[in-house]
Amino acid sequence: MKFSSIPTVLMDSVFPKYCAVCRRTGAWLCPECVGKLTPAMPECYICRRISDHHTTHESCLRNTDGFSGFKRMFVWKRYDGQARAIMKTYKYQSTEALGHTIAKLILPKIKVIFADLTPSNTIIVPVPIHSWRHNQRGFNQSLIIGEYLAKGLDWLSIPDLLGRKTGSKHQAGLSRRERLDNIRNSFHINKAVALGISTIGTVRHIVLVDDVITTGSTISHAGKLIEKEFPSVSIYGITLFRGAVRAWPGVRSQQITTRPFAGTQGREPMRTRKRNRTC
Ligand SMILES: [Zn+2]
Ligand SMILES: [Zn+2]
Repeated sequence: MKFSSIPTVLMDSVFPKYCAVCRRTGAWLCPECVGKLTPAMPECYICRRISDHHTTHESCLRNTDGFSGFKRMFVWKRYDGQARAIMKTYKYQSTEALGHTIAKLILPKIKVIFADLTPSNTIIVPVPIHSWRHNQRGFNQSLIIGEYLAKGLDWLSIPDLLGRKTGSKHQAGLSRRERLDNIRNSFHINKAVALGISTIGTVRHIVLVDDVITTGSTISHAGKLIEKEFPSVSIYGITLFRGAVRAWPGVRSQQITTRPFAGTQGREPMRTRKRNRTC
């Protein structure tokens, strides 16, 4: 008997759902805790100024220094204390169902923001995790979310286009420079899969999915590899959470907006500061 054939009421009594944050039973993420997450405003991922549908400004795309240029980078919420509590449960307690819960929440937004990407020309690719981490958790949360979105959008999911090299180290304890070098060398393209995509011939858009962006280095390097492999394809990003305001790796010296969010109750006055070259 498959689990899916067991009535939901019976499943919930045997394996009760509990909120990843407050631990109340009934849902993997209760509406009250979702409501406490800090919204991520639609912004250009590079300069972080407001931008319709999270679209990257053309001028910002010209200002990357050898790093990937995402045409759009959707971010669901800010990576603050509430979001960290969710990710802690998600990553270390193997609650795969939480991924489906979050993917279900963001799917309607993705349908609107990526409405111009059609099933026949779009594929979705999760950012892979290390094999040791996969063994530890039993799944890649970006893959879980990506596959759910692909199903809802009728996009093709290609989970093994990118691979993670086995020799790369755990990021913890490394210096900033060592972390960047580690990330730069940690991905590879699965050439057989890439050939298959090229053979399809109709793919025009590749959407990378990652759970959390902190420095931006990981998804940026993954995107760069895809750009090199498919120079005529546009790349996009979908991520659940993004951390505090900071410059994107490879962005040349420019005015980066420092705009702390104040929830839905308005926000502090916009101000800018001069950033030096960051990478
Ligand atoms: Zn809750
Ligand atoms: Zn911009």
